[in-house]
Amino acid sequence: MENYWHIFVDGYRDYGRYLWSEITQLHGRNYLLWLIGISVVFFALELARPWRKDQPRFRKDFWLDAFYMFFNFFLFSLVIYNAASDVAVTFFNDMLAAVGIRNLVAIEVGSWPVWTQLVALFLIRDFVQWNTHRLLHRVPFLWQFHKVHHSVEQMGFAAHLRYHWMENVVYRSLEYVPLAMIGFGIDDFFIVHIFTLAVGHFNHSNLKVPLGPLKYVFNNPQMHIWHHAKHLPAGRSYGMNYGLTLSLWDYLFGTACIPSDGRDVELGFPGDERFPTSFLGQVRTGFGGKDRP
Ligand SMILES: [Zn+2]
Ligand SMILES: [Zn+2]
Repeated sequence: MENYWHIFVDGYRDYGRYLWSEITQLHGRNYLLWLIGISVVFFALELARPWRKDQPRFRKDFWLDAFYMFFNFFLFSLVIYNAASDVAVTFFNDMLAAVGIRNLVAIEVGSWPVWTQLVALFLIRDFVQWNTHRLLHRVPFLWQFHKVHHSVEQMGFAAHLRYHWMENVVYRSLEYVPLAMIGFGIDDFFIVHIFTLAVGHFNHSNLKVPLGPLKYVFNNPQMHIWHHAKHLPAGRSYGMNYGLTLSLWDYLFGTACIPSDGRDVELGFPGDERFPTSFLGQVRTGFGGKDRP
């Protein structure tokens, strides 16, 4: 027990040091700089060539979403997540050891060329996340948290990181075992994180970029806006277009749906007019366990 307590305390100390170094040391692999840089690029593109020309430049909830970006990317880990997840991982490994499992690795990719490792990691992670996103829509308990992301009324790049802190827990827990099983030898996923961050911003941006045949591979604003549609087409009551970075999974598994040009489609979910509008109101939602409205 004392061991877990030390891991918990060390988790805070290490993450606190990391966050401080992100703020004070401006080097090329600094997540904070990349988050700001990518956000500025998409904001400038939205100003220059907006898809919805009549949408305000500082759309509804722009600043709320700007805060969510920093909260979900940095602060939540400092508040509790990093220390708690270090304890959970140690506890999980101790439990496995107690039943005789000392190594989760099923495929050893450490000897592969580094680019192959990165592509494998990216594909497996994105597929697990696509499944996790489907669960967020299917399981009533999880949908209560996911509503925060779907409470966006006017779409823009910063809406990407508006989501309930429980989604961090759900996504990272469900991807932990599959990623541990491939035993990747990479200790640096920086480029994968930055790439998925940029594509996530792109999906939510107020931009129209025809991708041609690449739309069957990469998610994009013209597809993801339908994921946020308030009124779903018949037979799609649990949603559609679940892809995060790749649209490929939706096309492969029949969950892709773009009924028409979604530029001005109404966003949200039935009953969203009663949903909390403040950050504090939204982070407290989700524990009532009510069914989908
Ligand atoms: Zn969703
Ligand atoms: Zn979204």
